[in-house]
Amino acid sequence: MPPADASPRPAPSCHVHKFGGSSLADASLYRAAAALLQDPARPRVVVVSAMQGVTDTLITLVALARAGGAWADEWNTLRARHLAAADALQRDGSVHAELEAEFDALADRLTALAAGDSDDSTDALPGLGEVWSSRLMQAALGGSEAGWHRLDAREVLVVHAGEMGMAVDWADSRARLAAWRAGRGDSNVVVTGFVARDAKGHDTTLGRNGSDYSAAIFANLFDADALTIWTDVDGVLSADPRLVPEAVCLPSMSYAEACELAYFGAKVLHPQTMAPVQERGIPLWIRNTRRPQLPGTLISPRNEPGGVPVKGLSLVRDLAIVELVGNGMVGVPGAAERMFGALRGAGVSVTMISQGSSEHSICCVLRADQAERARDAVAAAFADAIGDGQAQGVTLTQDIAVLAAVGDGMVGTPGVAARLLGGLAQARVNARAIAQGAGERNLSVAIGAGDATRALRAAHAAFWLSPQTLSVGVIGPGQVGSALLVQMSAALPSLRQRSGLDLRLRAIANSRAMVLDERGVEPADAAARLGGGAAEAVDLDRFGDHVRGEHLPHALIVDCSASPTVAAHYPRWLARGIHVVTPNKLAGSGPWERYAAIQDASRHGGGRFRYEATVGAGLPVMLTLRNLLDTGDELFGIDGMLSGTLAWLFNRFDGTVPFSRLVREAQALGYTEPDPRDDLSGLDVARKLVILAREAGRALSLEDVDVENLVPEALRAVDRDTFLARLEEMDEPMLARWREASAQEKSLRHLAQLDRDGRASVGVVALPAEHACCHTRLTDNLVQFRTRRYADNPLVVQGPGAGPDVTAAGVFGDVLGIAQSLGSPFGLAHPWAADARAEVIA
Ligand code: ADP
Ligand code: ASP
Ligand code: MG
Repeated sequence: MPPADASPRPAPSCHVHKFGGSSLADASLYRAAAALLQDPARPRVVVVSAMQGVTDTLITLVALARAGGAWADEWNTLRARHLAAADALQRDGSVHAELEAEFDALADRLTALAAGDSDDSTDALPGLGEVWSSRLMQAALGGSEAGWHRLDAREVLVVHAGEMGMAVDWADSRARLAAWRAGRGDSNVVVTGFVARDAKGHDTTLGRNGSDYSAAIFANLFDADALTIWTDVDGVLSADPRLVPEAVCLPSMSYAEACELAYFGAKVLHPQTMAPVQERGIPLWIRNTRRPQLPGTLISPRNEPGGVPVKGLSLVRDLAIVELVGNGMVGVPGAAERMFGALRGAGVSVTMISQGSSEHSICCVLRADQAERARDAVAAAFADAIGDGQAQGVTLTQDIAVLAAVGDGMVGTPGVAARLLGGLAQARVNARAIAQGAGERNLSVAIGAGDATRALRAAHAAFWLSPQTLSVGVIGPGQVGSALLVQMSAALPSLRQRSGLDLRLRAIANSRAMVLDERGVEPADAAARLGGGAAEAVDLDRFGDHVRGEHLPHALIVDCSASPTVAAHYPRWLARGIHVVTPNKLAGSGPWERYAAIQDASRHGGGRFRYEATVGAGLPVMLTLRNLLDTGDELFGIDGMLSGTLAWLFNRFDGTVPFSRLVREAQALGYTEPDPRDDLSGLDVARKLVILAREAGRALSLEDVDVENLVPEALRAVDRDTFLARLEEMDEPMLARWREASAQEKSLRHLAQLDRDGRASVGVVALPAEHACCHTRLTDNLVQFRTRRYADNPLVVQGPGAGPDVTAAGVFGDVLGIAQSLGSPFGLAHPWAADARAEVIA
């Protein structure tokens, strides 16, 4: 056994970190990135992208120069940006000087290009951004004095163009890296991403977004025990967050899943990233530079069991379908082979293939820019069969996108395809072709390009959202609206946790302004947001469109305004399946035609219309009535005290105090409308009675109600001040009625009545002392239902029936009632829903 000190010292394993351009936009972000690397326990290798947007600018500069255009301004701006970052980060002037020299060299190349120099090494110029960035990162980390070396990947990384993109010459690269490391020990290194060199020694790049791939290659070459890719999102999300705002971060996934997602367009990872780390089983973390406290996504050989069977959804656009149709091909061997042979011959790569078992048609999805070539090649290969009538022909459909659902858990889980297609059906997206590999890890659906975003959102909702997710808009945060927002703010978190009820306030409006927010408005912030700079002029059609947003399963608008303009929108919203809840009496008691239009729209469009708070505020009046009728009871009549103001007045009126004084007192207590005639006229009570009668199936309108107006004739047309000044004119007639009633040992009460024949009246009546209405307190409302089951002893609902808090509670109750009754619009129970919900909540 060799002596211990003679054995080669095992190199301490290192951790490779990669920062994308999105995390490197200016000097302060380089500093923030450097701060994330404080792990002195083991060597660190940091792979950097160019500063944000630099690769694009370099590509533009080259194109401009080639076309003979003016590139100097862009070049100057780019140079100034880098020099400013260098000045902020470096200790001496060395980085500044190096960058100046490199920008001068770039200017020389651009000048040569503009002069017609066709040097093909210009393909490598876009990689300069990574070279500059590596200098800035080295400076941010304290430079070589702090033990940080800089490695230009072009010195060691040798690649060649392979079938699936750039492939690494591993042996060569490994030997070159070993040579570079010799004498440098296990030091910390900053490496340029994206760039490499070919076997002939020419500079090249790994393709757009290739720094992720660079990072994985260097993790392999350095024998790293971990790779962290730092970016601007929390990890790999269930879908592209720019298209699906409620995408969730996936805690873990397998290399294979990540690979499928990346190949199908998830920009967060370059598709070739996984292979080099998978080969050595190196765990790969995706984390957010701006939220380093989060764990991010772990991509590793292991796949955590359980949870949603689909890990992610992605979209590939700019595709086309080429389809070969032929009755005569049924059972003929070799048709598929001939078709794919033709495509291979034409250099066309196929994204997706679908063939029905009848073999009547074979359908390929391929890149749009290769589609005509593909069609012509297939047509040529089948020219004989087409001539003989065995094949009908080859068709080409442009403007296609493919939606892919990816996940190891799809293997052997029934119902995944049903759920995906159910979601698409819900969003009215037509599936043109469907394919699932026998591996069951990827389910792909070809759809029209115009449907792509809608399809992605609908599919996402079908897999990830609680079936009781509602997109909510609130209009008119006045007193009731504000109270509702306070109640929602307090209740929403526990509703989400306890019952999976996910109410998302996504739009708010008052009579002037509105705020539409994709991710949601915190109810407590709603008022401030409406008054803030981001508010826009109110537009109820856009408000409805936003609330309906196709990516959430259900939509609901709460109208707390008293605006006829808003009420006029109800039929339109209900017809689109948007539920409407309101404490506003206008619609329920307005013209019969509008009421009928609302009911009609609701029946056909599926949106429900609820207005419990219009009668008795938070008291369960409508609910009770509906339950009676729905369970087969028969309504004989309704008696009720439906106005808190009038209830209070007649509770207090005992002949000792003039009625006018009580009216003034009620006004001072804030019980009356600003003009007390609005209460005394009985009209408001009549509206409530109309609402109740209609709910009971009677086609009653306001004109049909016999309303006693308590305001004397002479005071009805005068202005408000005159009315208040002459209030005493009410006293004498009111006192006379009281005397008459008390002579019969009765009390006066203001009552709304609906009888069995549909006759409706509102006014003051004298009731015997034992009547329930004579046993109410303060502003109590009371409603008596006389029905077949409750014939002798009526069913009574009684309690405080006014005030913003109880009214808002009535509105909130309606919202919850609707939410709780909603199932999945996708029409299928899904066994993994509970797990999915847990993940979303966590
Ligand atoms: P970097 O500059 O860090 O390499 P990229 O812009 O290349 O960052 O990739 C991150 C972006 O990828 C995110 O900001 C996000 O918009 C987009 N993206 C697309 N699909 C996904 C997905 N499934 N998960 C996470 N991000 C995604
Ligand atoms: N800077 C390169 C690009 O923008 C590589 C990368 O950022 O991954 O494509
Ligand atoms: Mg990237």
